[in-house]
Amino acid sequence: MKGNLARTLVAAIAILAGGAIVRAQIDPRTALLERGAWTALTSGQARAAADAFREAIAADPKNARLHLGAGMAATLERRDADARDEFERALALDPKLFEARVLLGQIQYRMGDPQSAIRTYEILVAEKPDDAVAQATLDRWRREIELHERMQQAVGSHFTVSFEGPAEAALADEALRVLDRAYWRIGQLLGTYPTDPVPVVLYTTEQFRDITRSPSWAAGAYDGTIRVPMRGALEKHEELERVLSHEFTHALIRTLAPRGVPTWLNEGLATALEAGDLSWAEDDLARVHAKVPLRALQNGFSRFTGGQAEVAYAASALAARRLLDEAGGAAIVNLLRDLGTGEDFESAFLHRIQRSFADFEQRD
Ligand SMILES: [Zn+2]
Repeated sequence: MKGNLARTLVAAIAILAGGAIVRAQIDPRTALLERGAWTALTSGQARAAADAFREAIAADPKNARLHLGAGMAATLERRDADARDEFERALALDPKLFEARVLLGQIQYRMGDPQSAIRTYEILVAEKPDDAVAQATLDRWRREIELHERMQQAVGSHFTVSFEGPAEAALADEALRVLDRAYWRIGQLLGTYPTDPVPVVLYTTEQFRDITRSPSWAAGAYDGTIRVPMRGALEKHEELERVLSHEFTHALIRTLAPRGVPTWLNEGLATALEAGDLSWAEDDLARVHAKVPLRALQNGFSRFTGGQAEVAYAASALAARRLLDEAGGAAIVNLLRDLGTGEDFESAFLHRIQRSFADFEQRD
């Protein structure tokens, strides 16, 4: 899920880019560099923005705003550790730089360090007691920590499964078995396996909504941790199998490419590699009588209604299945690795799949 951090980033970029353009600077060359950097950031060109901020920082290293901008570019590029360091540097230079603290907390949370995120937001809320959004985020993170402290763990060789009480212990064991099967089946298909154990948390439906803030149709989420609501899973083994293999594929994709993967490819692979066939997806698309262009499915599905989301998943899954059949798992893994290093999608696709993306899409 990309909700919170992405929204915060977009809002902050708009405010700061506006400020930077009207502000008069002492050194006109640095001013020009900074302006170019913000413009690049506003138009989503993270790589160009990162380069421009780096150059501006070399000329004006004590400028907190430049470090904030560099952190934002790093956040967009999913260089999370660099982003955290830049936000910390910005705050060391100017502790009142509110946006840097907001983004530092968000990036710490995304890096799987909610304890540090909470400490950052405690300072933020103390400085801005009327910020209801920051307070609500802090409360949610505290609830998550409290819940996770209450939880027990079942530890396998490739996964750790956290769950709340003895009532879920049997389910956690079953989840471990299902995950292990997914690990070997999908790993073998793609010819790659995650190096580190993947954390998995089993939630009640309410806890899942509260912590992940996923849309109501979501059956699971992956943000470095596989998070799964347990509704119905006890009675329905196939559902558990489906959801866990889907989220495991996301975890595997993240180890290959922490960034740069279009949503149709990410969700398409996760859906196509679920246990079971894709006849439901063919039926879905036949029913809506419309071709869904993959280019419209690049940036997240969380804004969709349940019905729209189903069609988006169906189209993505069929495209990913076709890509697997035509190019093979190894080519897709290479494509993902290229995307993860920041290579442009069209050229990586052409290089690894041996045909242009436009051509692939057209022959659908
Ligand atoms: Zn998914």
